[in-house]
Amino acid sequence: MSSTLQGITDDFDVIIIGGGPAGSTAAGLLAERGRRVLVLDRERFPRYHIGESLIPGFMLPMEELGLTERMEEKGFERKYGGTVVWGNNEIPWNFAFATGGKIPYAYHTRRADLDTMIMDRARELGATVVEEATVKDTIEEDGRVVGVRYAVRGVEGIVETRGSLIVDASGQARVIGRKYSEVNWHEQLQNVAVWTYFDGCHRLPGDEWSNILIEGIKDGWFWGIPLDKGVFSVGYVTPSATAKASDKSLEDLFASQLANTSKLKGLLKDAHQTSGFRSARDWSYTNERFYGNGWVLVGDAAAFVDPLFSPGVALATMAASSLAKIVDQIIEHPQIEEKALDRYATAYQEFFNGIRIFVEKFYDRSKTKGFYFDLAQEITDPEKKNDAHVDFVQLISGLARNDALFNPDLDDLIADVSAPAAD
Ligand SMILES: Cc1cc2nc3c(=O)[nH]c(=O)nc-3n(C[C@H](O)[C@H](O)[C@H](O)COP(=O)(O)OP(=O)(O)OC[C@H]3O[C@@H](n4cnc5c(N)ncnc54)[C@H](O)[C@@H]3O)c2cc1C
Repeated sequence: MSSTLQGITDDFDVIIIGGGPAGSTAAGLLAERGRRVLVLDRERFPRYHIGESLIPGFMLPMEELGLTERMEEKGFERKYGGTVVWGNNEIPWNFAFATGGKIPYAYHTRRADLDTMIMDRARELGATVVEEATVKDTIEEDGRVVGVRYAVRGVEGIVETRGSLIVDASGQARVIGRKYSEVNWHEQLQNVAVWTYFDGCHRLPGDEWSNILIEGIKDGWFWGIPLDKGVFSVGYVTPSATAKASDKSLEDLFASQLANTSKLKGLLKDAHQTSGFRSARDWSYTNERFYGNGWVLVGDAAAFVDPLFSPGVALATMAASSLAKIVDQIIEHPQIEEKALDRYATAYQEFFNGIRIFVEKFYDRSKTKGFYFDLAQEITDPEKKNDAHVDFVQLISGLARNDALFNPDLDDLIADVSAPAAD
């Protein structure tokens, strides 16, 4: 069935699979540039998603989308930093995003609200968004992906639609990545997470009021995310192998390990659980290829890193912003496609790997915070231009060395293809 039968044009500049933060950010920024964009998401929004603690890097694409004031109006909880029970330090330690010197806060938010806000903005900017539309397959012609086939809930038949470029922003479903790329699992980050929600929680004191709490215990770590008033999202992350070897269910493991925390159990002492448990195998991975003939990956569809320090949504939206700028230029100058996508993939992988390597080494809890600060410096600032503490905060804010990713420069590629042909 042609999509025109659905009242939607058949032919787009860009088709985006998935309307989560990555897909909707790319869609909004491309539509704003006058591109014809179709977003297909299998869910109806608002829909639940995990990933509620944001970092300052996320504020950059939101500013481009014109959403920073809207987040305030919606009453999202500002997050100024984190409180960490980790490493060899006897006493919990804190970090403040302001130390990074660039953007002093991000937010904690329910993803149903956040993701709907970004999707609505994509629509306002001119993107066509179809919800409850599950992409089933790609359409290929002469070795190039030229479109997708999708099914709309409640409607019989499969719809075909075409675009100059297909963006896979389908999160861990990896609709295109699964078909066209191998995936590399990061062996050191093969964890499992189990989480739930509590009401009636106490807040951290004073300046720590809105901090995320990251508390390491012997076999794993907990997050405590203040969503609003007394409501906390609380999750436990442990190696998959440890969970498997335990005779307890994930829920029982959560309860027994919570009792081993020092700070978190204090915040929850008068709280009551308000929902059931959810769990996910959150193994970190990178797709071998981030792009191919007619397709490109972004967000979790490209790569996923452990939720320690909460980089997921920031990474997804920063990469989506970069991709929008690049795809816009590709539509203008199709000859640069391969080199431009390669530049995007290289910048994305380098930025992602910096965070991944840091997280992997941070998992060694035998060290003190000075070690972790030096580690951040080694990765992002080997010339030691900043204080190591500043480097640490910039890295976990998603703001260290983000220029090549966030501000891609294609001028040389465009100049090459625009140069008048020699006689
Ligand atoms: C346990 C855990 C805790 C986390 N905590 C945090 C955190 O605190 N902070 C943070 O920033 N990140 C966190 N993350 C990571 C975060 O959830 C992701 O990085 C983020 O959601 C990625 O956004 P995305 O747009 O790439 O993908 P998603 O948000 O997953 O969006 C993908 C969209 O694609 C749609 N889709 C899938 N398949 C299809 C299909 N076939 N057809 C059409 N649509 C499709 C889905 O419905 C979905 O809406 C956490 C992750 C886990 C597992």
